[in-house]
Amino acid sequence: MRTYLTFKDIQDRCTQLNDIYEIEEEKFYRIVEKWADREVPTEEKLVASFSELLQVVSDEINHMEKVVEMEPTCRLGCAFCCYFPIIINGMEAKLMKKAMENFPESRREKIEEHIQNYFAQYGEEIEEMTSLNFEEDKDFKLKYRQKNLPCMMLNTETNQCMAYEIRPIPCRTYVNYTDPKVCEDNLMPKEPVSFEFLYSEYMGALNEFLQFLYEEGDTGFIQYPDDMYKEDYLPNWFK
Ligand code: SF4
Repeated sequence: MRTYLTFKDIQDRCTQLNDIYEIEEEKFYRIVEKWADREVPTEEKLVASFSELLQVVSDEINHMEKVVEMEPTCRLGCAFCCYFPIIINGMEAKLMKKAMENFPESRREKIEEHIQNYFAQYGEEIEEMTSLNFEEDKDFKLKYRQKNLPCMMLNTETNQCMAYEIRPIPCRTYVNYTDPKVCEDNLMPKEPVSFEFLYSEYMGALNEFLQFLYEEGDTGFIQYPDDMYKEDYLPNWFK
């Protein structure tokens, strides 16, 4: 029978990580510097840096896992964390939409149809849950989770994300290292680790890039800085 790390093991490894690991910020900034120099349209620069920065976040997590020898127990087809509210800013929403425009036509059509059906099926509950004030209501996550509403991007037949490679930061930074049953048995399990602190490097690099583009006079489809300041639930950006 497989043995899993205990909650205490996980906590100890996180402490160890905290003591020895230094995030290599340069990795994030190198991406935007690379795209800033490319002779391609602004739209392409933005979407490419966004996708690559998301990947750097995932790579950084993989690296940390290796350093403290932790292996995720999250598996394809397990989607308990896709019932949590996902909050992103307006810039991320626009970047997600643009990146999705580059998906092959058949995939794009499937997503569009899925989103339409999603709102037809869950519209009222979504309306209710996305009116929870996530800035002031400290229980908003639990209240949302109790509704058992799947994420707008979750294919509930396969339990897979329809926009996996561009899934937002909260999705890619929430990882379980113990028995997957903890996610099945608890609405808000305490065991999974959140690497959401990497958001600051990812957003810092994007902000620096947008600032540069702003000074150059072309931020493409992004309204800078306004889009960065507006945050909302994922479905509200796609209504
Ligand atoms: S965006 Fe994808 S990974 Fe994130 S919660 Fe939704 S379905 Fe899950």
